[in-house]
Amino acid sequence: MSTKRDYYEILGVGKNATPEEIKKAYRKVAIQFHPDKNQGDKAAEEKFKEAAEAYEVLSSDEKRAQYDRFGHSRPGNGGFRGHDMNMEDIFSQFGDIFGGGGSPFDSFFGGGGSRTRQRKGSNLRIKLKLTLEEIANGTEKKIKVNRLIRAEGVTFKNCTTCGGTGQLRKVVNTMLGQMVSTTTCSACNGAGQLIDKRPPGVDNSGLVSKEDMITVKIPSGVSEGMQLSMSGKGNEAPGGGVPGDLLILIEEVEDKELKRDGNNLVYDLHITFIDAALGTSVEVPSVGGKVRIKIEPGTQSGKILRLRGKGLKDINGYGSGDQLIYINVWTPKKLTADEKAKLESLRNAPNFQPHPDAGEKGFFERMKEYFA
Ligand SMILES: [Zn+2]
Repeated sequence: MSTKRDYYEILGVGKNATPEEIKKAYRKVAIQFHPDKNQGDKAAEEKFKEAAEAYEVLSSDEKRAQYDRFGHSRPGNGGFRGHDMNMEDIFSQFGDIFGGGGSPFDSFFGGGGSRTRQRKGSNLRIKLKLTLEEIANGTEKKIKVNRLIRAEGVTFKNCTTCGGTGQLRKVVNTMLGQMVSTTTCSACNGAGQLIDKRPPGVDNSGLVSKEDMITVKIPSGVSEGMQLSMSGKGNEAPGGGVPGDLLILIEEVEDKELKRDGNNLVYDLHITFIDAALGTSVEVPSVGGKVRIKIEPGTQSGKILRLRGKGLKDINGYGSGDQLIYINVWTPKKLTADEKAKLESLRNAPNFQPHPDAGEKGFFERMKEYFA
């Protein structure tokens, strides 16, 4: 059952480490994987919890002695697993471990062991359809959104249950002895404030929905499914705190002529058999407007021409894609008697017999070349 790592290994100390060395080692690991520094990183959070558990055991003389004898599989007691330390427990532990001025944790915790998280309003999500041209050049959009904002005339007072901190502290008994645990105040839902006065028609949150016009700058090169975030442009938080974010989900309107392939754009060009044989020049669409390109005499169907840098700008600034032009030679489907006669006279002409040379790559060769 034991896939658990060795507690000494987790903290990076030897079996003979002194309590002081263990404490120092834990500090180091905890700072490294602290959630404030690794937001959204599940692996870091696991390491953080793992280290807290290791420290919990190794910092107690009694538990350390048992662990040294029996390892993780301490008999009769299900090992050291039984106690699930949650984040609140771990944080409240810091007050004891890192307490006192000058600890590196002060910057993360705002001092001491009590952790106050600022309340944040909810995020707003909208979808935004963009044409290929807008994606290519970047654009600025004015978008109407309905945001929850603080209603006019609403006043707040400090929550008396938690004294304005938004959190309640209580002493709990754990394997480590007594520890202080903090929970969110249920009277104010962690806001620390309650509504004092509110005008008629405003509910308990003190927020009202208001239509807002927001200007969104869209960088060039965005793509379907990408999400842009505008910090603080979401709903305001009830009773104070910071507003949530406005999340903008990008949707692409499919272009009739240019198909997107990453940052490359693909255009299907159909030319006549005559133009392919004799050569010509044609106009093709591009995101920068029409471009005239040359068709060499003797162009084969399936040839791909590349307009370098005429694709989409990379969103992360890694240059630009290309525009690829796929040449399709059009074979006439209906012919008049006269046309038939003209072509029939050429049927056996030596120049009309296929004789692909080494330069005439097959379909798969070309694909390999362009999409390697
Ligand atoms: Zn409260």
